[in-house]
Amino acid sequence: NPSQLVQALFNLGEMVTATQSVTPETLQLLGEEMGFKVQVVSPEDEDRELLESFDLSFGEDEGGEDDLERRPPVVTVMGHVDHGKTRLLDSIRSAKVGEAEAGGITQHIGAYQVTSEVDGVDRTLTFIDTPGHEAFTAMRARGAKSTDIAVIVVAADDGVMPQTVEAINHAQAAEVPIVVAVNKIDKESAQPDKIRGQMTEYGLVPEEYGGDTMFVDISAKQGLNIDSLLEAIVLTADASLDLRANPDMDAQGVAIEAHLDRGRGPVATVLIQRGTLRVGDSIVAGDAYGRVRRMVDEHGDDVTEASPSRPVQVIGLTSVCGAGDTLMVVEEDRTARQIADRRNARKRNALAARSRRRISLEDLDSHLKETSQLNLIIKGDNSGTVEALEEALMGIEIDDEVQLRVIDRGVGAVTETNVNLAAASDAVIIGFNVRAEGKATEMANREGVDIRYYSIIYQAIDEIEAALKGMLKPIY
Ligand code: GDP
Repeated sequence: NPSQLVQALFNLGEMVTATQSVTPETLQLLGEEMGFKVQVVSPEDEDRELLESFDLSFGEDEGGEDDLERRPPVVTVMGHVDHGKTRLLDSIRSAKVGEAEAGGITQHIGAYQVTSEVDGVDRTLTFIDTPGHEAFTAMRARGAKSTDIAVIVVAADDGVMPQTVEAINHAQAAEVPIVVAVNKIDKESAQPDKIRGQMTEYGLVPEEYGGDTMFVDISAKQGLNIDSLLEAIVLTADASLDLRANPDMDAQGVAIEAHLDRGRGPVATVLIQRGTLRVGDSIVAGDAYGRVRRMVDEHGDDVTEASPSRPVQVIGLTSVCGAGDTLMVVEEDRTARQIADRRNARKRNALAARSRRRISLEDLDSHLKETSQLNLIIKGDNSGTVEALEEALMGIEIDDEVQLRVIDRGVGAVTETNVNLAAASDAVIIGFNVRAEGKATEMANREGVDIRYYSIIYQAIDEIEAALKGMLKPIY
C-alpha cells in the first residue's frame, strides 16, 4: 500500500509522498526493495509488444529490395503566421488539380496529391493540407513519421521570424530535408536576397551560394513559380531520400485527421505509408477498429484501393480515432477489435492515473504557481472547533497573491463525499480530532487526495502556513 511504498522509498533515501511522481530509476530500485523486477516501458514499446502478441508489426516493409516501389514524397508546409502557408497550399491545389480535373477539388480531406512534370516525367507529390508545425510535431510526438520534405515559407517582405526558426528546428530535429519558399515576391518591399542571407544563419545555405538547400522565389497570391517549387521538392527528394515502399502487403498508414460525420459516421483521413488499402479490409486505427466500407479521395470520388503516399478518407471505423494514430490492416475483424480494446483499456488507465495526481500539501508550491489558491475541507469533532480552526486558518498572513479558501466544513468523520469534493476541486482535507471512514481512506488513496489529521489547532495552523510559504517538508 502507498504508505509502505513511501516508507521503503524513505529507507532508500528518497523523500516522497504517495502522490508524487518518481523517476524510472527510483521505481526500479523500489521494485528490487519490494522483491519485484520493474521494467519501465515506453508507450511505443508497449504497443509494439501488443502487436507482436498478434504476430504483427508496424513500420516495416515486408519482403526484400525487389518488392519496393517508388512512392511520392509527402510534403508539409511550415513557417511563420501570415507568411502565406495557406495561400500556397490553395495555390498549388488550384494550379495543379484544376488542370487535371475540371471543377477542381471539392473536398478538404487533410491532404491532397498533385502531379507535376519534372524533367519530362510526371511526378506525383502528396501535400499535408494543414499548415503549421504543430500538426507536424504532434504527429511526430506520437511516433508517426508522416512527412518526407518540409517546405518552409518565408515572406520576402518580412524575413525570418520566431515561428520560421521553430519550423526549421522541428524539421531539422526530425531530419526532414527542407526546401525554402521565399514568398510574396510580388510585393515591392520584397527582399529575397536578404532572406537567403538570414536563412544561412540557421544552416540553410542556398545552392547558389554553394550550399545544398533549394530556395525558390514564389508568389502564392499570383501563382508565380509554383512549378519551380514543385520541381525543387521533387529534386530534393530524389537527391536525399530513397522513397520506396512495398505496395503488396497489408496496408499501414497514419491517420492525419478524423471526425464524426453525421451521415457517414466516423471518418478518418489516412495517409497510406506501405501496402495497399482496399475496401473490405479489416482495420485497426489507434483504439478504433472496423472494416473499410468506403474510401473517398480529395476530389470526392470513391476509390477502391489506395497505395503508398496516397491520402484517402476511410469510412467504416466504429469510433473516431485520433490524429496521428497508426492504422493497419489485420487478417480478421476479431484481431482488430482485440487490439483496439487493449489500446482503449490502456488509454483509460493512463487517464485515470493522471487524474489521480491530485494536490497534496507538499506539492503545494508548484500548484500555487498555477492557481494561487489552496482549497481546504475541514472536518472536526464539534462545530466549535471547526469554526475556531477555520477562523484561525483564515487569519494566516500570507502573500496577497495566494488565496486560502475553505470550500466545505462539517462535524464528524471524513466521508467519501468529502473525498469526492476534494478530488473534484483539488482540495486538501483537514481532520481535526476525527478520522476518515475506511472507505473514504481507500478512496483518498486511490484518488490521491491528501488528508491531514490534527488534534492541536496551532499545529494545523503552522503546517498550513508553512505549506503556503512553500516550506513544508514531507512527513512520514
Ligand atoms: P499563413 O498564416 O502562413 O497561412 O498565411 P496566409 O496564407 O493566410 O496568408 C497571409 C496573408 O498574406 C493573406 O492575406 C494572403 O492573401 C497574403 N499572401 C499570401 N501569399 C502572398 C503573396 O505571395 N503575395 C502577397 N502580396 N500576399 C500574399
